[in-house]
Amino acid sequence: MIHHNTIAPRDAQWREQLRKALTAKERTAIPRCRMPELDAAYRVTCNEEVNQGISRGQAVLEATRCLDCPDPACVSGCPVQINIPGFIKNIQRGDIIQAAAVLKETSALPAVCGRVCPQEKQCESKCIYHKMGRQPVAIGYLERFAADYDRDAGTPAPEPPSPNGHSVAVVGSGPAGLSFAGEMVRLGYKVTVMEALHEIGGVLKYGIPEFRLPNSIVEAEIDSLRRQGVQFMTDVVVGKTITYDKLIADGYDGVFVASGAGLPRFMGVPGENLVGVMSSNEYLTRVNLMGAGRKGYATPVKKGHRVAVVGGGNTAMDSVRTALRMGAEHAYIIYRRSEKEMPARVEEVCHAKEEGVEFLTLWTPVEFRGDDKGNVTTAVLQHMRLGEPDASGRRAPEPIEGDIMELDVDEVIISVGVSPNPLIPRSLEGEGLEVGRKGTIEVNEDMQSSIPALYAGGDIVRGGATVILAMGDGRRAARAMARAIEGR
Ligand code: FAD
Ligand code: SF4
Repeated sequence: MIHHNTIAPRDAQWREQLRKALTAKERTAIPRCRMPELDAAYRVTCNEEVNQGISRGQAVLEATRCLDCPDPACVSGCPVQINIPGFIKNIQRGDIIQAAAVLKETSALPAVCGRVCPQEKQCESKCIYHKMGRQPVAIGYLERFAADYDRDAGTPAPEPPSPNGHSVAVVGSGPAGLSFAGEMVRLGYKVTVMEALHEIGGVLKYGIPEFRLPNSIVEAEIDSLRRQGVQFMTDVVVGKTITYDKLIADGYDGVFVASGAGLPRFMGVPGENLVGVMSSNEYLTRVNLMGAGRKGYATPVKKGHRVAVVGGGNTAMDSVRTALRMGAEHAYIIYRRSEKEMPARVEEVCHAKEEGVEFLTLWTPVEFRGDDKGNVTTAVLQHMRLGEPDASGRRAPEPIEGDIMELDVDEVIISVGVSPNPLIPRSLEGEGLEVGRKGTIEVNEDMQSSIPALYAGGDIVRGGATVILAMGDGRRAARAMARAIEGR
């Protein structure tokens, strides 16, 4: 048996020998590599990245597990169809820079996706190893390894082609906007990204905490775009400080709207306006983007001792784990279904549990109560059971009559979903922009809206989705807009 942790980096000859020496059966017998992690007791005291990344030796051995299936199902499981066997085989051969080059053919932010994509529900869920009753190839770990190696090696960004004389504007600097910008600059367009906040990165900066996705990783990707010629403007609120019509009058040939879904939803239960109850968007933005709780920053944020986070998605896990790092003594997840139905990544749930988060599943708040100063003190919780599947395909929660409990809290973070940012759709109401029932911008298969020069993608089109889907939209929109502009 070959153990991951006993393998050290070796030379190309050793790797070739390893590949030839092992039969498919032997390769499938290699155990899946394990991601080294910071100890739970230590990591809750700081913001350091929990997952430490696999070593080169681990990566080569993990890549050796891949059977190079003739019809690789993993590729169809990836929303942007990365050439998975292609990049994995390069790692196995020891050509990590080439592995990263294969990733970059399809993904603008491989170091980000390798960290935050729900691989267990996407590419890894389709890996042939499942059919053998074994753990899938660790595609996400390998993606992260190759992207980090490439960045640390300082591989230069490709030289952009000579300018083609056209310019395009991007509204919003999250993964959809960044991916669109990367594609367009590589096609010779002058690209200007306009961002309402004072930082570039969208949810990657203001939402996902550094213990999961360090800012330095996002910054490196943004710097690479800058070096390729993308211009970034912060504190520009399109629809307020500048209108769509003005952008077109200024000579932009097309506008890509990637303004995301940053509008928090609330539950509509009594007491949601008490002091100490807030949305996860507000909480995470204060802490991640505005430095609340850190030395030298004046941004206020409540540091609760008994913090309840309502919801079961990644945002809820990020909020509850942030609350622990802000000093909470008791941190709860309150979720109305069972753990099986939780939309959060399995890894995030696991990490939250290791860090001491208490999970109250099959409970939902029906009221929040406060003291005479208006501070929240109690969450009144209704016990639920699961009934028949609803429109989402998950079993619908139903209240168990009379089964109520009270939980002492001094801070509540509501994380029950988001809606599209309404500013752009509202600002174009009279101009024929088609908007869906839930406030999303309606687009065709080219991501083109009912206003021909306006394309849109990411969460503003899908509602809350994922980083990789937003990036895929950016890429598709860029190619279609370029075809339209060049055909004009
Ligand atoms: P965003 O990332 O939201 O970026 C939109 C940007 O547009 C923002 O910066 C906003 O300020 C800006 N903007 C809005 N209006 C204007 C305007 N009028 N003018 C100028 N700028 C404007 N997905 C995963 O795949 N894995 C995860 O682990 C994961 N974890 C998450 C954790 C949290 C806390 C949150 C909130 C989301 C998470 N997601 C995760 C979802 C994922 O981050 C989003 O689906 C993705 O970021 C959407 O990308 P986007 O580019 O469409 O929008
Ligand atoms: Fe490799 Fe698994 Fe994809 Fe097959 S399905 S090519 S074994 S990663």
